[in-house]
Formats: sequence, C-alpha cells, structure tokens
Amino acid sequence: MARYDAAGCPLPTNLLEAAAWHFAIVATCRKCGAEGVFDPHALWNLFERKGWDVGIRSVAYRLRCRRCGAGAFVSWSKDKAATVQLPMPDPRKWKQALNRLRS
Ligand SMILES: [Zn+2]
Repeated sequence: MARYDAAGCPLPTNLLEAAAWHFAIVATCRKCGAEGVFDPHALWNLFERKGWDVGIRSVAYRLRCRRCGAGAFVSWSKDKAATVQLPMPDPRKWKQALNRLRS
C-alpha cells in the first residue's frame, strides 16, 4: 500500500516503487554516520538477482556500512546523486518489473 508525504506525494515502500518514481536510496550507518546513495534501479537489480525481498525494511536489513560494518537506516531522496556504483538492470527485465508494478 502506498504511503504519502505531507505534500501528497507517494512514498516508496520498496525498491521497485523507488526506482519507478526516481527516488535515490540513501543508506546512513547507524554507528558512524557514513552515507551511501544508491541509484534505485541498480539497487533493485542487485536485490532481484540475489532473490532478496525488495521492501524498504528488508533493504535496511541487508545493507551494511562499508566503513564499520554496522547496519543502516534507509531513506530516499529526489535530489541526491548516487555515490555507490552498481550494475544497472537489463532494460528488458526492468520493463517487465515496471509492468508488474502497474498491473
Ligand atoms: Zn559505519
């Protein structure tokens, strides 16, 4: 179910929605505060390939700080550029996923 912010914009609840709506995924370390910004398509691709659940809570559970290894808080941003480079999904696979979201 979609959630909405104060301005009435939908907030993503999983990586597919984040990518479809062009939100970058921001992971902040719980311990040292290090921040990583992921392109949502690339992060979705990683989770999809590993067979991991793409829900935002699962993402927070999977991501680990590269500096100290602690867990991360996950949020999203419309105006941050990705700082972590991951391979992008196959365009055909991405289109299929988008169709699933819209159906
Ligand atoms: Zn850390």
